[in-house]
Amino acid sequence: MKNNQLPSHASVVVIGGGVMGCSILYHLAKENVSDAILLERNQLTSGSTWHSAAQVRALRSTQNLTDMIRYSVDLYAQLEKETGQSTGWINKGSLSIATNKDRMIHIKRQEALAHLFGVRAQSISAGEAKERWPLMNADDVIGAVWSPDDGRVGPSDLCAAMVKGAKARGAKIFEETGVTGILTENNKVVGVETTRGTIRCDAVALCTGLWSRKAGAMGGVSVPVWSCEHFYLMTHAIEEIKGNLPTLSDHDSHLYMRDESGGLLVGCFEPMAKAIDPDQIGENFAFQLLPEDWDHFEPMLLNALHRVPALETAEVEMLLNGPEAFTPDGSFMLGESSETRGFYLGCGMNSIGIAIGGGAGMALAHTIIHGHPPTDLSDLDPRRFPDCFNSVKALCERSPEILGTHYEITFPGRQHKSARNLRQTPLHDQWTSHKARFGQFYGWERPLFFNSRTEPKLTFSRPEWFDQVGQEVEQAHKRAAIFDLSTFGKIEVTGADAETFLNRICANNMARPAGRAIYTAMLNERGTFENDFTAIRLTDEHYRLLTGTGMIKRDMAWLTRHKKDSERVSFHDSTEDFAIIALMGPESARIAGEINAPKLNDLGYFQSAVTNIGGNEIQATRLSYVGEAGWELTCRREDVKSLYTAIEDAGAKPAGIYAQSSMRIEKKFLAIGHDLDADLSPFEAGLEFAVDWQTDFIGRDALLARKEKGIESSLVLIVLNDGNAVPLGNEPVSISGKFIGKTTSAAFGYRTGKPVAIALLKQNGAIKLAELKGLEVEINIAGEMFKGTVSTAPVFDPEGLVMRSVI
Ligand SMILES: Cc1cc2nc3c(=O)[nH]c(=O)nc-3n(C[C@H](O)[C@H](O)[C@H](O)COP(=O)(O)OP(=O)(O)OC[C@H]3O[C@@H](n4cnc5c(N)ncnc54)[C@H](O)[C@@H]3O)c2cc1C
Repeated sequence: MKNNQLPSHASVVVIGGGVMGCSILYHLAKENVSDAILLERNQLTSGSTWHSAAQVRALRSTQNLTDMIRYSVDLYAQLEKETGQSTGWINKGSLSIATNKDRMIHIKRQEALAHLFGVRAQSISAGEAKERWPLMNADDVIGAVWSPDDGRVGPSDLCAAMVKGAKARGAKIFEETGVTGILTENNKVVGVETTRGTIRCDAVALCTGLWSRKAGAMGGVSVPVWSCEHFYLMTHAIEEIKGNLPTLSDHDSHLYMRDESGGLLVGCFEPMAKAIDPDQIGENFAFQLLPEDWDHFEPMLLNALHRVPALETAEVEMLLNGPEAFTPDGSFMLGESSETRGFYLGCGMNSIGIAIGGGAGMALAHTIIHGHPPTDLSDLDPRRFPDCFNSVKALCERSPEILGTHYEITFPGRQHKSARNLRQTPLHDQWTSHKARFGQFYGWERPLFFNSRTEPKLTFSRPEWFDQVGQEVEQAHKRAAIFDLSTFGKIEVTGADAETFLNRICANNMARPAGRAIYTAMLNERGTFENDFTAIRLTDEHYRLLTGTGMIKRDMAWLTRHKKDSERVSFHDSTEDFAIIALMGPESARIAGEINAPKLNDLGYFQSAVTNIGGNEIQATRLSYVGEAGWELTCRREDVKSLYTAIEDAGAKPAGIYAQSSMRIEKKFLAIGHDLDADLSPFEAGLEFAVDWQTDFIGRDALLARKEKGIESSLVLIVLNDGNAVPLGNEPVSISGKFIGKTTSAAFGYRTGKPVAIALLKQNGAIKLAELKGLEVEINIAGEMFKGTVSTAPVFDPEGLVMRSVI
């Protein structure tokens, strides 16, 4: 075979030769996948990569994302030694300044997390910041955080080094070779068609940057990625700049700055960017830029002139306008698609592709080889997006907002303004008439709280909606409340082998009589959580799984992929067919009588039955996610309004997600994506009761091995002493100054009258898991230490009395 001749087969075809493609190829080769190839329709780095500002800032919102960038930093620093090719890595640190109180809280929260994640970061005064960046006007600066390990890299050099490393291990690269089709059989990738012929393969890694939406469609995969214009200004040399500077981030002014060839590079994440259709950019956009747009950049230029007065006399070299890819939630996509097996995504990098490319490439290569990511990366899972986000309209609206959020303060409760109302529950009009403030989850509009008259001011302090949520909790606790659970994912599992199949998929024993609800973990082969959900056995051959709102694609993919050919079982996503409302609170029993459904009161806890209310068939299940007595009532979508009206007329009032969240935390009901993830097993979560060792479920052996090795962390509750503290989750927990873990969810607990947090605490020299109960700990909330006491049981209704009392 000649050097540039395409092979007829490759185990993995990486599509796209930007930083992501190069990194994945390098890591596949490093893991001995020596027949992987990369296809690039133009030249390597010719997409977004070559013109990147290439800053590398380590600190991210989660440990696993932060670790990914730290991996990148280590890789970029050592690749030259391995390959002889420099990556242009310059480690000059970064400086984040604050010019208002909320930004200061934001960066203090980041600093606290940095320490927890093992990243060096240090609060410094405005004066010290100015010493580190003398060209800065620091008059309005009130503080800063200094991160010494950050730096920047040469994007093209970096790719050249990774390519050299990959080639040395047998990988091959073909430029001027575009992928024009993806071949699939039985929803599995079997090959690619290219401008130079067909290649059979076992998997593809789609690293096609801003062109990924169309490229995904070739394999039947929904890839909600769109592009925005992205600007930075470059000046000619400025006399005062001697040598390399740290990167200066002035997020309140939407700016970052650093030296470049003796001048300044001033980049921005302006509040509302300009979306641009990838088709308009075109396929041959190699090493090209978009036109300058000084009118659009002007507000940012004014901000820059304020921050760095020396810019006034600096000579402009160019205003660079390069396109970059954005997703609807500002995080990139890494992992296998739900639609097509062997179709992996590594795209939509949201302007951190260079910083995270090294770690992300390692993680995707690991996923391709081992079938799962190295750590929990569900924040990046491509299956987190509903298809409604893949419309041109939604993407055009959302992507400019996403670019603007890059430097926004992460206030709790912040909601996107664009691409709203993509999905509404059948009770949307009712919630609107109750003046609901809506939040968007998986495209759905869900009521956060009610009686909201004006746009609430976002804050890190006690929010404006505090009292309203308190009233909704009181309604559910003392009288009766209605929660809309219609957005839950619903999966009908039917067939003669439904029970045996589910007993393999679920850790709990699913062989229960019809009319039983079963709470179960769904574990992977490592014994950690893929999900948890409640299943209702409707008949011998029919279960309905009620899963988290955002989990439906993941669950459907998991079920489909684990079905054996011989098994007589099928799955149907019925989410849109049914509505669910939860009637919760001590007056539920009276209301059941008033709506002519007294039989509901005969149901025991975790029992389910069909009843008739107002002529409509209702599947009523006695369970509660809020720790109050009541039922979850499932009916056909079209019947829910009359059910709702009957219940409301009998005295129940609506309650929103914030009330539900506060109540579930007090009751220590754990939530996937917050408290539970693929790094945790039922042991750490305290959910062994949902594991039945008599069945042979996926993850059983790994779970036993985990126990054998010893469990080192535990999810607990922490009740804070100070009623005015506002924990939000993701805060470090320590004891005598030593970190022992972090909060995973938090809220004010209205029934206990104290702020409450769920926290994952890790056994170390400072604590023993057996001695957690009653332990005094400290939570670092934006640099302030708040004392709290550990509870290993729910802090509301610790004995389950409320729920048992109604059985
Ligand atoms: C102005 C600007 C500043 C930035 N600053 C930073 C920064 O400071 N730090 C940071 O981390 N990131 C930054 N970024 C973002 C970073 O540059 C990108 O996230 C990253 O380069 C994306 O890499 P990629 O591999 O995903 O995509 P790309 O580099 O765009 O590569 C995709 C490749 O796929 C090829 N392709 C597409 N379709 C096909 C097909 N069908 N067949 C074959 N090949 C195909 C394209 O030709 C292209 O080469 C910046 C971006 C911009 C625009």
